[in-house]
Amino acid sequence: MKRLSETKVQKNNKEHFTIIEEKSVIFGEGHFTVIAGPCALESEEIAIKTARAVEHIGAKVFRCSLFKPRTSPYTYQGYGIDGVKLLQLLHTETNLLLETEVLSTDHLDTLAYEADILRIGSRNMDNYELLKAVGKTNKPIILKRNMSATLEEFLLAAEYILSVGNDKVILCERGIRTFENYTRNTLDILAVPALKELTHLPVIVDPSHSTGKRSLVPAASKAALAAGADGLLIEVHPDPLRSYSDGQQSLDLLEFEKLMKELSEMANLLGKKSFSTVLS
Ligand code: PEP
Ligand code: MN
Repeated sequence: MKRLSETKVQKNNKEHFTIIEEKSVIFGEGHFTVIAGPCALESEEIAIKTARAVEHIGAKVFRCSLFKPRTSPYTYQGYGIDGVKLLQLLHTETNLLLETEVLSTDHLDTLAYEADILRIGSRNMDNYELLKAVGKTNKPIILKRNMSATLEEFLLAAEYILSVGNDKVILCERGIRTFENYTRNTLDILAVPALKELTHLPVIVDPSHSTGKRSLVPAASKAALAAGADGLLIEVHPDPLRSYSDGQQSLDLLEFEKLMKELSEMANLLGKKSFSTVLS
């Protein structure tokens, strides 16, 4: 990985880990932080119901996408920028941090003002102008791996953000494209320890888009924790079958609660700091 030498993302020594702390929520080595919520925000009622439930169950951050990159232009594209009113409401209704996807620089200032954590989706991992633009904000950035990017390309995309001054980058493995089509993508579980060898940045896993199947989300989540991930980005919906997008891979609230209990036990065994204190 010659192109990684002399980069800011590169790890200097074995114990070099960046810990990102945003309003007392921590991402990084030794912690396990769960971001949960619907694929996309749909209505005020569902947003508040889901946010309150996932907060009670132990998530620290609410996934609340207003813009959806969809394969078909005829499917639900998201609430749009009017949804910032919902973000304001969610801030008053819960203590969760809010995490949202930025699809374009047009909305960046507004979203950076209203949300606590910004996400760059897989399809924009190579959108270097957008990477530089979020690199100029002071918000933590979740950078998702493009479905066909090597780890080196992934880390160089993160470098674009660090290179302009924002070192609060959280890498997210979300599955890659392979010949296998039983799952939506193939979770590259070894990307987690491999990234941890290469970089000091926190690494989380998206067990929802990597599997595409609700039944496989718990196994992917536990595998992520066991492989050394620092957290999860997971889709949860109170009524997945009625969800406007990705219902087939969203956990309902009971399934999420069960998974969080299992993860909590595992996290305790592994000596993780912040996960166990949330539920206790
Ligand atoms: C998402 O997390 O909402 C999403 C669209 O995932 P990805 O960018 O990984 O496809
Ligand atoms: Mn989704």
